[in-house]
Amino acid sequence: MPHDLPKAYDPTAIEDHWAGYWVRENLFAVPTPDPATISVQDQGPDGMSPFVILLPPPNVTGRLHMGHMLNQTEMDILTRWRRMSGRLALWVPGTDHAGIATQMMVERQLTEEGTSRQTLGREAFVERVWAWKRHYGGAIIEQMKRLGVSVDWSREYFTMDERLSVAVREAFVRLYAQGLIYRGAYIVNWCPRCQTAISDLEVVHQEQKGHLWEIRYPVLGDGGPEGKPSIETGEFITVATTRPETMLGDTAVAIHPEDERYLHLHGKKLRLPLMNREIPIVVDPWVSREFGTGAVKVTPAHDPNDFAIGERHHLPSINVMDDRAAINENGGAYAGLDRYVARKRIVADLEAQGHLGAIKDYTNNVGHCDRCKTVVEPRLSTQWFIAVNKEPTGGGDSMAEKARAAVRSDANGDKAIRFTPENYEKIYLEWMTNIHDWCISRQLWWGHRIPAWHCGACHKITVPESGSTGDPAACAHCGSDQITQETDVLDTWFSSGLLPVSVFGWPNITAETRADFDAFYPTSLLVTGFDILFFWVARMIMLGCWFAGDVPMPDGSPRPLAETVPFKEVYIHALVRDANREKMSKTKGNVIDPIEIVKQYGTDAVRFTLASMASPGTDIAFNVARTEGYRAFANKIWNAARFIFMNVDKAAELEIKVDPSSLPKLPAVGMDAPREDRWIVAEFESTANKVNRSLESYRYDDAANAIYQFFWGSFCDWYLEIVKLRLEISDTAGKEKIKPALTTLLSVFEASLRLLSPFMPFITEEIWHVLYGGNPPAGSIALAHYPPVQGIIDASVQIEMELLQSLIVEVRALRKEIGVEEKAIVPIELRAGESLREIAEQNRDIIERLARVSEVRFVDQISAGLSKHSTPQFDVAVIYERTIDIPAERERLTKEIAKREKQDANDERQLNDPAFVAKAPAHIVEGKKKQMQENRLLLEKAKAALAALPKE
Ligand SMILES: [Zn+2]
Ligand SMILES: [Zn+2]
Repeated sequence: MPHDLPKAYDPTAIEDHWAGYWVRENLFAVPTPDPATISVQDQGPDGMSPFVILLPPPNVTGRLHMGHMLNQTEMDILTRWRRMSGRLALWVPGTDHAGIATQMMVERQLTEEGTSRQTLGREAFVERVWAWKRHYGGAIIEQMKRLGVSVDWSREYFTMDERLSVAVREAFVRLYAQGLIYRGAYIVNWCPRCQTAISDLEVVHQEQKGHLWEIRYPVLGDGGPEGKPSIETGEFITVATTRPETMLGDTAVAIHPEDERYLHLHGKKLRLPLMNREIPIVVDPWVSREFGTGAVKVTPAHDPNDFAIGERHHLPSINVMDDRAAINENGGAYAGLDRYVARKRIVADLEAQGHLGAIKDYTNNVGHCDRCKTVVEPRLSTQWFIAVNKEPTGGGDSMAEKARAAVRSDANGDKAIRFTPENYEKIYLEWMTNIHDWCISRQLWWGHRIPAWHCGACHKITVPESGSTGDPAACAHCGSDQITQETDVLDTWFSSGLLPVSVFGWPNITAETRADFDAFYPTSLLVTGFDILFFWVARMIMLGCWFAGDVPMPDGSPRPLAETVPFKEVYIHALVRDANREKMSKTKGNVIDPIEIVKQYGTDAVRFTLASMASPGTDIAFNVARTEGYRAFANKIWNAARFIFMNVDKAAELEIKVDPSSLPKLPAVGMDAPREDRWIVAEFESTANKVNRSLESYRYDDAANAIYQFFWGSFCDWYLEIVKLRLEISDTAGKEKIKPALTTLLSVFEASLRLLSPFMPFITEEIWHVLYGGNPPAGSIALAHYPPVQGIIDASVQIEMELLQSLIVEVRALRKEIGVEEKAIVPIELRAGESLREIAEQNRDIIERLARVSEVRFVDQISAGLSKHSTPQFDVAVIYERTIDIPAERERLTKEIAKREKQDANDERQLNDPAFVAKAPAHIVEGKKKQMQENRLLLEKAKAALAALPKE
């Protein structure tokens, strides 16, 4: 049956077809294993345990960007490689409900419709978000499907799915019962637009030009009689602030205890201007004497440092802003004004009343909401927290301590979790050592609503018991039925932090349900970017170690730390930058859309571009020119396939049948096989070794480049050219050479496709199916075997072929130099040692064909008068008498001499010009001198050539 491969390589057609096929056939699904056939004990330490990897769930609002493309390419290469190498490989996909981002998206829609979430009410709004999700939420998943990622789509999850929501509730109630969740007043970053607290990690700091306003607070004397207001002494303390509106909430001014300027004011009071409030002067060593006047206003409700001072000195906290960052009823005359309107008026009033000092220009780092870019307002509010440094009720390590132990070396130097690049371990441990309590509440409607109920009668909190499902009907403390559920939802990272345990069934781990958990937890690897190291990676380690610790091992024994971790390895990938190594950004307009590039060059070429530059800790400068190059690489493979198939079909017409299904699975040849066959097999095996070893250490670049060199160089440029000689049938004697030649050719090609497949899954799938005449041994090349590491490689034949190649390369170079026409076939002289002489004699036909040589003359010395090339192993010369048109050559040389003489005169004039030599940089002058010397040399050569021309 003839092999039907279209003439032109068209990635779009192939890729659409196979992407659909992989999803439709559910090719990469890994069903729940039968506990009888798989158990942790059986798997042993030989690296054959399942390879399990979780996709960092993109936001359901997301669109695929270059970072995703890199991340997914890296995961897909590793998963396909592990799967083909014989491991049960499971890659679990899903999307994140992305609380703030999704709520914002829908709120924007509502604004356009002239309504709002408040008008709709909570229930209708949440329903509306679900409707949005059903309609638009699949976009990024569709993009992933088109890119052909080899995930198990049957296990796709959404973080708001019922079973994952059960896990979120259970995690909360267990932590609450362990005394690790509390509610408290705390300074949070408040986004007045999103109207929710956001975490430190969601605040982006930007330098902004502003002002530093100095305000003078009058000092009060202690003189006033009982009950009468204190009298101003006429002295002032000057404080400075970038947010003058917060002064409305000042409850003290702080100074350093040893600041000599203020020693006489210890214990005194001040009058807060505009509010007419008496506030104390407190002494606190935290205050810096060097900064400004050494006196700072203290606003505990609006600044984290001030909050800490307030706690130390038992100062009241006066919150002066509402949820929209307008001044509230605590702001006196300014109540109802937006924060920036209030600022202007306050500054004007201070000035009018003589309390304003200097106004200085000041550049400071202002925090903005990462989602909506609104300036965040540090603000006191009541939030829910996890006490990460606290021991649980009943004793044991804190959550942070477990999360540190998982990454630290144990007594044997082993680590439960390894980071690549390794320096991230230190960064992680430092963060986990300085970690504060985790604020887990968000004032949103979209997300997992906190499972806690407030009692209207006794004001206590009721949290359901572990394992319960229904909502409580009465207060657990006083029995009142006046209970209402907390309105806050949980931080999105609380639910995504649980994913490694929840996707495999936690908390419902029973004897019947635990097969997934036993087989797949801990996962093998997490591939992610640095930007979510703390957001997500750290949270997964904290929550994974905590809750998996409750699940005994399959044999009932307690789970050791190394088995509680959510993943055994973390690979932090680098950034994709533009071709000039600039960070991609919308404002700069240098964002490369992966979907556009894929449309232009095909997924395979884009994947290969990323892989060829990906290695630990190195950012990728994405250059489209490179993608164009890899598109050409794919094309080269396509053409090689067409050439091979054409020959197989031609042979079949001559009754020479090569059956692809009986090819050796590893390209194997005997010692008596032709040298080039033994060589290409050795080359293939070296490449397979290099690729396997490089992927073990995340050197995608080394792996991709090794395959590229092999496929393009060794296979296409050399082997195909050589083997062509054996495929030609010019006489009846040619026939018997064909079958072994085709068999080796086809088996090496088939194995090379498998080697390349994890990097370029589409083109290899297409060609592989055609190679087997549409009847391949497996449903996909991705289910075939990966070429493994080989122990012994025939290195001697590689050395021999290298010699032969270098001989051919030198002859080709010589031909160019002395101007032999492309088509001319010429004799060569070769002086070579014994071994090369033998190789050259045996492979005369190859040399003759590949270097266009008519005859190899072995000599002891290259004849005088021939220009030769020398290497340590041989000298070679091409014998070629060019027939020259003497008058034309004389004219050409005469012209060249005139041109070079003129150039020389110019050079000399310039270099003798003192002004030029003095002004021009040294390297220019040096370059000019060198140029002059070269020109003179060529001038002499041309003169000699002219003199050597025969006279007419
Ligand atoms: Zn915001
Ligand atoms: Zn109660």
